[in-house]
Amino acid sequence: MRQKIVAGNWKMNKTLVEAQSLTSEIANMVEDEGPSDVKVVIAPPAPFIYAVENLIPEMGQIVLAGQNCHLEDAGAFTGEVSAPMLKSLGAQYVILGHSERRQHFSETDEELAKKTDNALKNDLKVIFCCGEPLEIREADTQNDYVTKQLTNSLFHLSAEQFKNIVIAYEPIWAIGTGKTASSQQAQDMHKTIREHIASKFGQDAANETSILYGGSCKPDNAKELFSQPDVDGGLIGGASLKSRDFTDIIKSF
Ligand code: PEP
Repeated sequence: MRQKIVAGNWKMNKTLVEAQSLTSEIANMVEDEGPSDVKVVIAPPAPFIYAVENLIPEMGQIVLAGQNCHLEDAGAFTGEVSAPMLKSLGAQYVILGHSERRQHFSETDEELAKKTDNALKNDLKVIFCCGEPLEIREADTQNDYVTKQLTNSLFHLSAEQFKNIVIAYEPIWAIGTGKTASSQQAQDMHKTIREHIASKFGQDAANETSILYGGSCKPDNAKELFSQPDVDGGLIGGASLKSRDFTDIIKSF
């Protein structure tokens, strides 16, 4: 059975007190309402990870993630956050390759391959984002585009290392736009991604890999998306900033 995962990417939002309140609300709602078989990943801004860590229950259903990390462990990289830092703050995951990082910080597939190596070396699981821009979708070349992103950044890994990778398919045209991929579009791409993983790491590894959908996922469309056979959960942006919406998405399986 693949792990069901709902991850919240808070991006550059919230103050310390707001981050603590939101974390407590989510922790309480998940504890009261379940379901208990969904792994909940919260990715607050890095400065808040340590401050919210003691607000989540110890059982391990809710875990913390960084939103990015540098490819080196340490050094003269002003303003950056490293994988060992995230780990020491209490993070178990890191999101890599988000389209906003690719777009605004010029992250390349090659750089993301190195970041992935460094995150895994530091015992962080990676939520690796991929997804096509609108013009690629309109040209109907999204499968080639997305599988190439995965090949370039992940296919140098060993099968053992790949066990610590979660894929998040996030069509860029659906992120923060209110425009969701249809459940069929999501399923088609997730199936393509799973077949691509199988071509390199084998069918068993592909069957075990959680593939999340991201892009304007909300309480009112999550159920339909999560009911697709290859959709194992979601990476949630805007709707993860409200405890009620985020918990309702978690309950959508
Ligand atoms: C995201 O940024 O990962 C995302 C999916 O955002 P939103 O849910 O706001 O579209």
